[in-house]
Amino acid sequence: MTPGRNYVGGQWVPARDGATFERRNPADPADLIGVFPASKPADATAAVDAVESARRAWAKADPEKRQRVLERTAELILAKLDPLARELTREEGKVLASATQEWRRTAANFRLYASEALRMQGETFSTAGDGLVYSVREPVGIVLAITPWNFPVSIPSRKIGPALATGNGVIFKPSEVTPLAGQRMVELLLEAGLPEGVIALVQGYGADIGDTLVKAGAVGAVTFTGSYATGCRIHQAAGPDKRLQLEMGGKNPCVVLADADPARAAQIATQGAFSLTGQACTATSRVLVVGDLYDAVVREIVAKAKSYRIGNGLDPQVTMGPLANEAQKQKVEAMIAVGKAEGLHIAFGEGDLEMPLPAPGHYVAPTVFVDVPPESRLSREEIFGPVVCVSKLASYEDALRHANAVEYGLAASVVTRDMGRALSFSADIDAGIVKVNSATGGVALNAPFGGFKHSSNQTNKEQAGHGVMDFYTRTKTVYLAT
Ligand code: NAP
Repeated sequence: MTPGRNYVGGQWVPARDGATFERRNPADPADLIGVFPASKPADATAAVDAVESARRAWAKADPEKRQRVLERTAELILAKLDPLARELTREEGKVLASATQEWRRTAANFRLYASEALRMQGETFSTAGDGLVYSVREPVGIVLAITPWNFPVSIPSRKIGPALATGNGVIFKPSEVTPLAGQRMVELLLEAGLPEGVIALVQGYGADIGDTLVKAGAVGAVTFTGSYATGCRIHQAAGPDKRLQLEMGGKNPCVVLADADPARAAQIATQGAFSLTGQACTATSRVLVVGDLYDAVVREIVAKAKSYRIGNGLDPQVTMGPLANEAQKQKVEAMIAVGKAEGLHIAFGEGDLEMPLPAPGHYVAPTVFVDVPPESRLSREEIFGPVVCVSKLASYEDALRHANAVEYGLAASVVTRDMGRALSFSADIDAGIVKVNSATGGVALNAPFGGFKHSSNQTNKEQAGHGVMDFYTRTKTVYLAT
């Protein structure tokens, strides 16, 4: 068992009051992953103070040094890929192929942002006489990264990577559901040569330490990924002058047009809905089928749902792992109960499995609700589990209207052979990511990522592009006279 620690001021330390919490394997709760510090405000304050005293030297370090540390981190990840991926499956529950893919993406993110260390550029401006007006980019100071459990290394890497590349100090608060993944990330950065104290790791419950971290005066920017409710809380705590990036939930539609091939549409819809056991912000949660294709698409979706092999993600035969913990399982089961209470019909669910769900473990069967009125609660609220709602719509216009009629706007997909319709859909859908003939989940490493409406606060979207680097730097304008 790995001893869980905070990392503060160059030391691996327990919480000051000695409080701890346990993390267990969601596929086998008897398997204890580790015992981690349940930090309190005093630990959070100590972390802020420690990074504040170390960050300036990092900001002034040769950019090539910052680049090398991030590149070396990527190399170390790839050298240890298999044990890292196995450990991630054991802690989070996702199947081994997905865990391997996540660590690969994490390495790729570090490599991508390593190169940004050399691209901090300013501008010069025309002015009268021999003087000079120019702008420089500098780090914002300390970046606080608060992250969810569903991508516990790749999401942090697209925050910590650009923050460190641009010379910031970092405070990393992983989810309490995936503390070991957070600890591994920091260990790898240190092994790669990150100077002591430039990063702090604070484990524990967001409710205990979030406000202290967010409100700390030395924290110049907060980058958060998680639920809308927590995002609102952070927004309130941050006050008006703190730089904030909030990437939040989704209720992502897959719209199937009348000219689509039903089998392909079902493949796209179920890949979006059931990958990662439905625990992706970009997961397909609603399938809106236009016209007569409906019955055929439902048949194909049910066949796909039936084909999943549910179990421990370390088993190579398994294609769907457990939910991340008991609380997530209960939330998803509660939403299934809401659907039943609303009188909705389940075309495939736990009762249709050929084998009972494995026990123990936090498993939920792939569940397909059909004939779902788009106005129902199930069609509007994020579920974050392997549950999909299929609805029949009379026309493209109806489908588009319902696709947009939710509070979120993260990802959307359309399945059609008609490229004209695909282009209009891309223009008219209120979503930050639009996929034509592919699943809502899965995004390019080098493209902007983020949503509209309740899915994001729209500030410098995560992942790639100048917008990202702008978030991690501030501009100073210098007027030079001789
Ligand atoms: P969450 O409950 O909002 O937690 C996210 C992070 O915030 C965790 O580290 C959590 O710590 C922390 N936190 C909780 N309360 C806090 C507070 N008062 N102040 C500061 N931080 C606090 O979300 P989750 O359950 O981990 O993740 C699922 C959600 O994330 C879904 O809504 C999903 O759609 C969204 N998500 C969005 C994206 C995206 O890119 N848009 C990507 C992935 C996930 P604790 O774990 O200790 O509570």
